[in-house]
Amino acid sequence: MKPEAASKRSTQKIQPAKNAKQPQKKIGKAAGRPPRPDCGACGLPMNRRVCFSADGSASRGCPTLTQKTLLAKANREYGKPPVHEFARQASLQEAACYANRHERPYVMQPTKTRLQEIGEFAERMGYRRLGLAFCIGLAGEACRVEEILKNWGFEVVSAVCKAGKTPKSLIGIGDEDQIFQGTDEAMCNPVFQAKLMNEAATQFNILLGLCVGHDSLFFQYAQAPTTVLAVKDRVTGHNPLAAVYLSDTYYKKLIR
Ligand code: SF4
Repeated sequence: MKPEAASKRSTQKIQPAKNAKQPQKKIGKAAGRPPRPDCGACGLPMNRRVCFSADGSASRGCPTLTQKTLLAKANREYGKPPVHEFARQASLQEAACYANRHERPYVMQPTKTRLQEIGEFAERMGYRRLGLAFCIGLAGEACRVEEILKNWGFEVVSAVCKAGKTPKSLIGIGDEDQIFQGTDEAMCNPVFQAKLMNEAATQFNILLGLCVGHDSLFFQYAQAPTTVLAVKDRVTGHNPLAAVYLSDTYYKKLIR
């Protein structure tokens, strides 16, 4: 959403929410401290949400209504030329992922895979050198991704999670907590992966299958902006949403 659009909507009169779990009564200053954002529990149909529709409603915890000062502060960031351009190109790429947008009424026609989206976004930004940080469990996929990116004309710097073969004992992991007990198992080393990318001056990094937490460290240490091609899910063929889709049935065990 463009910053100006966001602030415009935030000033519009809000209709009371009918289906929201907790209808808004006192929101913002009148209620004292704003409630914590809780968009995940909004409960309104998408086209009736104030963040989506100009005459939409909101539920308690709606940041569109209650966090106007913070919103203005966030939106000022887009005044910085690099942030402005990065966000602009990301939005242009987002729209370019849908075909026939001139049709009315418009029914979304997505046409581009995430890999294509990443390649096109990198081209838009004028990046030439990409970093590819991957999990050893997806080494085959990484090889193919690297080939494809090179075929597009990018220079690719790639590093596997086990690069450096640092023993897990460095971080206090004993043999009983290794995957392969009785071996000299190397730790995943996302800090090393990030530093390799930094050293090579990659302009944009792509993560492929790093573990939970290891990906967090990579984000923390990488200097270039980073996106994710795919996340690891050891059970679902790297499709973590499968567990979400089935959380009412076969993955009910997820509900404690
Ligand atoms: S911004 Fe407000 S209306 Fe939009 S999802 Fe969050 S709570 Fe719901």
